[in-house]
Amino acid sequence: MSKITEYFIQKIPKTDLHLHLDGSLRLSSLIEMAKSQRLELPSCEESGMNELVFKERYANLGEYLAGFAYTVGVLQTPENLERAAYELAEDSHNEGVRYIEVRFAPQLHVTHATEIGSIVRAVAKGLEKAKKHLNASLSESDLPFEYGIILCAMRRFNRQMSTYYERVLNRSTSSMRYSYALASLALVKEAVKLRDEGLPIVGFDLAGEEAGFPAIHHKAAFQYAHRNFLRKTVHAGEAYGPESIFQAITECYANRIGHGTFLFSKEAIKLKSIKDKAQYIAQLSEYIANQRITIEVCPTSNLQTIPEFKTLRDHPLQQMIDNGLSVSISTDNRLVSHTNVTHELLLCTKHLNLTDSQFRDLVLAGFKRSFFPGPYREKRAYVRRAIDLYDGFAKQHLD
Ligand SMILES: [Zn+2]
Repeated sequence: MSKITEYFIQKIPKTDLHLHLDGSLRLSSLIEMAKSQRLELPSCEESGMNELVFKERYANLGEYLAGFAYTVGVLQTPENLERAAYELAEDSHNEGVRYIEVRFAPQLHVTHATEIGSIVRAVAKGLEKAKKHLNASLSESDLPFEYGIILCAMRRFNRQMSTYYERVLNRSTSSMRYSYALASLALVKEAVKLRDEGLPIVGFDLAGEEAGFPAIHHKAAFQYAHRNFLRKTVHAGEAYGPESIFQAITECYANRIGHGTFLFSKEAIKLKSIKDKAQYIAQLSEYIANQRITIEVCPTSNLQTIPEFKTLRDHPLQQMIDNGLSVSISTDNRLVSHTNVTHELLLCTKHLNLTDSQFRDLVLAGFKRSFFPGPYREKRAYVRRAIDLYDGFAKQHLD
């Protein structure tokens, strides 16, 4: 019987590698921002918003995504973006998270008055301010707070999604598929430019509707990221089968996979050319394990969007761990999923059969497989400190 308790989980240094800014606002801030912008919400009370929008269980993906209209709606000014980023760092730090990678699609926050650069700078400013504040009174036994930023391209978009996309589509004379590809390429070029100016942009991601909108359409953008030493993570196998994960790795050079939930699902394979489905999955998952391509698993989010999963026991997480895959536990959306890293890790200990050493791997994978913004030597020293703190605390509480 493991001695891992909620207290233990709160105290150990943790990471959150898959964390969307627009899904992780403080509810009180959302309401306040909406009021000051005269943006109407279904309720101006937290309890009302939780009842109507940010539910404990969602009936379908549409319901899960509905809340983003409000969060993205208020995050249309650099001031609000800076504040949201600051508060996200502070909330994460409060539960013992010491390293976060905040991801968002700046295209959704651009207005007539802003451009991608000013949006990203606002988020970076909020995170940097928080880092300075949080690390100001660092004790000897604590790990400094660090962060990176990941920019997300969208698998698909339409005019209604943002001013930016309206402009892109008004200028475009090509097919939608080509417009998606061009928009992703424009974004990654901007990401590399901003990174080279010194902003802590550590990765490039692909998010949005998976079925019908394959990652291969965005190959040119990911090739650009690859050639410019920007790391890649792709939302894949969240709402589609193993082929989608395969494509993320082989066409988009993914260093990490967001979700990867359907990695082992034979029945989810749709490609006719794959004759031996079991062998395909075995080879794919072995490749992922060998290459240490980390799967960013977000348990609550997956349970909320995949109704077949009644508890975490129905999720392939245990199988991923048993197969030796590198897995890191993340929140996805702290507000939309009513969660934090402590809660996600606690769920793992409650519903899975984890040894202390497997739990340790799950926590430390986030440090080891992070797209840390500094030089590799600094990353090594940072990871070493995280490991030593973890082991020291485990010695006191688990032995
Ligand atoms: Zn996500």
